[in-house]
Amino acid sequence: MKTLGLLGGMSWESTLPYYRHINTTVQQRLGGLHSARIVLYSMDFHDIEQLQRANQWDQAGVVLADAARRLEAGGADGLVLCTNTMHKVAGQIAQSVSIPLLHIADPTADAIKAAGHATVGLLGTRFTMEQDFYRARLETQHGLRVLIPDDTDRATVHRIIYEELCRGCIRDASRTAYLSVIQRLMDRGAQAIILGCTEISLLLEPKDVDAPLFDTTYLHAVHAAEWALHP
Ligand code: GLU
Repeated sequence: MKTLGLLGGMSWESTLPYYRHINTTVQQRLGGLHSARIVLYSMDFHDIEQLQRANQWDQAGVVLADAARRLEAGGADGLVLCTNTMHKVAGQIAQSVSIPLLHIADPTADAIKAAGHATVGLLGTRFTMEQDFYRARLETQHGLRVLIPDDTDRATVHRIIYEELCRGCIRDASRTAYLSVIQRLMDRGAQAIILGCTEISLLLEPKDVDAPLFDTTYLHAVHAAEWALHP
């Protein structure tokens, strides 16, 4: 079994389910007392969020690349960047190491296509919803049509992520707000919804929503575990 290097702490609330999903998958596949081989570098998210806010993405890339090199030196065979947003600097991170970075968008898109969906609604931070680094990969590399909420809804989705979910705060009113945003995306033709922020599944469960949900945290973590198990 290969060793996974987790770049976590963005936020730590979503690194917990990563750890659980990866270990659960390995335990289910191998049985007995098996668990995953993991090296974790957990960032201080305050520092990363300050760099996002200041639009200093290159500097954030430098910080994460440094952490990635430490994971490689610690024995990691592959990198799992436990956030959608920071995949904006995935290239910078990948270039700084000789081990592969398992991109979060790829297992997500594969699962969507396997389920037969072509048009998806994307929820995430403003960066993920509005910029090209994530959507373009889904559209160009995977051939999906991606819808994003309107500006007001994007502001709501983004605010709840940083002010609540990344702080471990789960509110019924915010769940209701997300459900309304999802309904509007479905009214515009979304066949499924990407939970394109690793904290959203702390708020929403499949039973809450009429649409098929694709949880990037779960899909990325299981993909990483399967990668670790198979040559
Ligand atoms: N975890 C979130 C994501 O998946 C947002 C926090 C961050 O900015 O990294 O995008």
